[in-house]
Amino acid sequence: MKAVGSCSLLGARYYRSEGIVLRSFPTGEGGLVVVLLQSDGAKLRTMAWGARRLTSKKTGHLEPLTRVEASFSRGRGMDNLTQVQSIEAFSNIKEDLDATARALYFVELVDGFSVEGSSNPSLYKLFLSALRGLVNVHDLDTAVVHFQWHLLRICGFMPELYLCVECQKTIIPDNHRFSVDLGGVLCPQCGSIQSPSICLSLPALKVLRYLHRTSTLTPLPLKLSEPLKRQLTSILDNSVRHWLDREVRSKRFMDEVGSALAEV
Ligand SMILES: [Zn+2]
Repeated sequence: MKAVGSCSLLGARYYRSEGIVLRSFPTGEGGLVVVLLQSDGAKLRTMAWGARRLTSKKTGHLEPLTRVEASFSRGRGMDNLTQVQSIEAFSNIKEDLDATARALYFVELVDGFSVEGSSNPSLYKLFLSALRGLVNVHDLDTAVVHFQWHLLRICGFMPELYLCVECQKTIIPDNHRFSVDLGGVLCPQCGSIQSPSICLSLPALKVLRYLHRTSTLTPLPLKLSEPLKRQLTSILDNSVRHWLDREVRSKRFMDEVGSALAEV
């Protein structure tokens, strides 16, 4: 039997669950495979039969970036999505190109880091909070840094910030290097011989340690300078790609939209 986490059980064959639609793709006979992050943080791949028919009541609720309440029946392979109702459509995000690009990046990361049948409630809370925060946030780049850091932390890939990942010496305030492969900060001695590594200035180390101390739902109240944002983005982009072991396709779109809008 598949894990159902915090889902409401309606019987051995049926259950209900809240979730956010990550993606969907068509399959034979008008069916749609729908991938959701459930409210317990587990990924669920489910079959919505008939969802591609024009008369289907399910279609409008199964767009990516829609929070839904849905009912499922257990299947031999994938479970079947039998009923679905939108709870939150994130319309404000979808009306804003820059916010949409960031949200699609969040979706791809959540899809990549979440695991079917493995609950992680903090992941759902982070995802929902990050999506809602995209609308009113003063700096979308900083919101992405915040999301990347907490995603890595929640999924068990938090970088080491207090001990050198090579020699284990305590890291004291200084300009350091960061090793993506080793997963954390290098002291000046190890940083001079470890390759490859990324520059980690003292302000960047302080921001990462601040993120380490604060909760998932607390937005960064700091105004980050452009050089500092570039440094943090380099460290976190590379860390995310390292753990996913692939390029993040939506990253390029997000960067292109950000650059184009900055020139307007
Ligand atoms: Zn060292």
